[in-house]
Amino acid sequence: MSSFVDVALPVPLRRAFTYRVPDGMTLRLGMRVAVPFSGQKLAGFVLRTHDDPPVGLKRVLSVAGSFESEPVFPEDLHAFLLRAADYYLHPVGEVLKLAAPALPKEAFKALKESGFVEHADDIKGRRLTTQLTSRVTRVPEVALPLRAGVKQKALLALIEARGAMLLTELQKLVPGARGVVSSLVEKGVLHAEDVEIAADRFFSADLPREAPFEATGEQRAAIDTLTTALRAGKGGAFLLHGVTGSGKTEVYLQLVADALEREQGALVLVPEIALTPQLVARFRARFGEGIAVLHSGLADRERHHAWRALRRGELRLAIGARSALFAPVPRLGVIIVDEEHDSSFKQEEGFRYHGRDMAMLRAHMTQAVCVLGSATPSVESYYLTEQGKMTRLSLTHRAKHQLMPEVEVVELARNPGVGPSGHPLITGPLHRAIQRCLSAGDQAILFLNRRGFAPSLHCRACGEVARCPACSVSLTEHRRAGVLRCHYCDFAMPITEACPQCHALALERVGIGTERLEDALQTSFVEARVGRLDRDTAAGSGVEEVLDRMRKRELDILVGTQMVTKGHDLPGVTLVGVLLADQSLAFPDFRAAERTFQLLAQVSGRAGRGDRPGRVLLQTYQSDHYAVRFALHHDYLGFYREEIETRRELGYVPIARLVAVRADAGDEVVARKVVKELAELCERMPEVKDRVVQVLGPAPAPIERLRSRFRMRFLLRSRSRAALRKVAQAVVSRIDEGVSPARAHVDVDPVSML
Ligand code: ADP
Ligand code: ZN
Repeated sequence: MSSFVDVALPVPLRRAFTYRVPDGMTLRLGMRVAVPFSGQKLAGFVLRTHDDPPVGLKRVLSVAGSFESEPVFPEDLHAFLLRAADYYLHPVGEVLKLAAPALPKEAFKALKESGFVEHADDIKGRRLTTQLTSRVTRVPEVALPLRAGVKQKALLALIEARGAMLLTELQKLVPGARGVVSSLVEKGVLHAEDVEIAADRFFSADLPREAPFEATGEQRAAIDTLTTALRAGKGGAFLLHGVTGSGKTEVYLQLVADALEREQGALVLVPEIALTPQLVARFRARFGEGIAVLHSGLADRERHHAWRALRRGELRLAIGARSALFAPVPRLGVIIVDEEHDSSFKQEEGFRYHGRDMAMLRAHMTQAVCVLGSATPSVESYYLTEQGKMTRLSLTHRAKHQLMPEVEVVELARNPGVGPSGHPLITGPLHRAIQRCLSAGDQAILFLNRRGFAPSLHCRACGEVARCPACSVSLTEHRRAGVLRCHYCDFAMPITEACPQCHALALERVGIGTERLEDALQTSFVEARVGRLDRDTAAGSGVEEVLDRMRKRELDILVGTQMVTKGHDLPGVTLVGVLLADQSLAFPDFRAAERTFQLLAQVSGRAGRGDRPGRVLLQTYQSDHYAVRFALHHDYLGFYREEIETRRELGYVPIARLVAVRADAGDEVVARKVVKELAELCERMPEVKDRVVQVLGPAPAPIERLRSRFRMRFLLRSRSRAALRKVAQAVVSRIDEGVSPARAHVDVDPVSML
């Protein structure tokens, strides 16, 4: 029995802390323990057990108790998490805490009473299929206090509009809803009662059961290659490049079925689970209840149950968004990353990991088969196949032999002025196409990547744009909600005609958002039933409802942001209209062309998936841009070839690797000073002097001010992973010494350039 343990704590320090093991306590690697740390008790993870008293310490504190009787993570997962923390230069204790199921409050309380807890894991709970939440209603006649904040008002407006709302739904609409609700309950304005709801609304999705398909030739070939790799037991990385509608899901399903039959486990990662109810439903239809669906709507208790069931081997298949990567799937044989190009796999806060890259690492470490699937693979992934580091599997035809849709360009420059709809963005050609589609009894999807009514408000008196007080971005008018809102910090204020800067009553609506487009369509096509899908309508089960209505043909036109471009399989859709194809090209990001091509190809892929051929209209000012040109012909490879040449010339990802170093502070001078100091530190490193690593910047971030903080950054770029890491490590050590009052971090393989 060891007398000491090194414990990783969830603190931003990249080192472990040594504690004494009390007599009679047995601790093993990976167990979660409570230890005293600067006057409080923290939960940490045992990284090492040993008998070496720490040198130079007079008194070694003792472990206060252990929360579980066994290691939290299976051994392979524990090892993977350590590697992931190391790769991203992130404190191990924070990574382990993030990956572990949250400790129930009872655990710490029990610890306080007895000072020693074991088996806190066996907390009595409900069945996996139900979840406890509150149903919140307005108490009539109790007025909202005069000094109520914007959040309180917004939340109240929501509840009043719908009569009653579930806390789980409110939490998706209003940040910090739980706190706001409980303060309003205290004030007597709201009433909350406990209710049990289906924990997993994907259980209730009423979709027809689906028997396995007779695979097409291409599907068969892909499935055979993958199952052969699975049976060989040595793992392998595969890129399943299948055009939209080629039936990638069927390949996943048959591979997973094979793994389950062999008593192995499988993990399926999807970009956003709420946006892919269909994929989850197909897995349900094939595998019944034996699936842990991990999503943000689960309460801690439910997550805990799903976790336990996987950990004990009662469930062997997990589906979820990015963080499901950490699910303790037993005997992991397969990891699938669907729509691998999607940027939501990258976590942009705290532990900034990329779910796709880490899926590949985890699969590699456990010798599992890793499948990345997409119709528009990321340039990084396709590059790996060209380098022979990943095997490419192609599905070049649609599963039911439907043709790819015809894509046409509508030159916005040549269709100026107001079209027949009375709106400049609905051009004559698009208007006529919608008419034809509707009179044929078909459905249309219209894509505009801006939510709200008007994206900005311009003051005719002072020439300014109405801005968020905390961020350097303009406010968007949301007419339905009656507010001007910041899309970055969620600041909201009542709609006003007065300019926030000069107070003149001269605000003018500029541009068009999905709300306004919805109105314009409704007035032009009076008979049509128009639905909308964007962050504003997606709350709760909003996505499922809208998609369901589309599927049941209760809607004729669906308007939406990039949410409509996701993998939806809606056979009635024969027309797709892209209102402004250039929108994403203007982004200050070296991936702007790639993003644009992906969006255009993906949204085009929603057309013509049924019996009738599809048609796509791309409205654009830049029809000669290569992202638009190749999207016209569904030519991924053409796009890739041109893009990789550009990246090569500019020395960007994936030819070179990047690390972003960012700092922010309330005071601009402080932010500038800190980032300058960090950049100078890099300049002094031999790797930078020898030009193996380049420092690009520092410069203010494109969004210079966010949540009242000034943001500065620079990029480190290199073709040598080792050299880049060395410089990044030096930055991290400097940050660990403290840069207060600024905050600073490194972001390895950054995605967001904002
Ligand atoms: P992708 O994800 O590649 O865009 P999906 O997996 O959504 O494509 O499949 C497209 C459609 O084709 C779905 O309706 C699916 O049920 C159907 N499908 C897939 N494979 C087959 C097959 N082998 N035979 C018949 N239909 C299939
Ligand atoms: Zn803001």
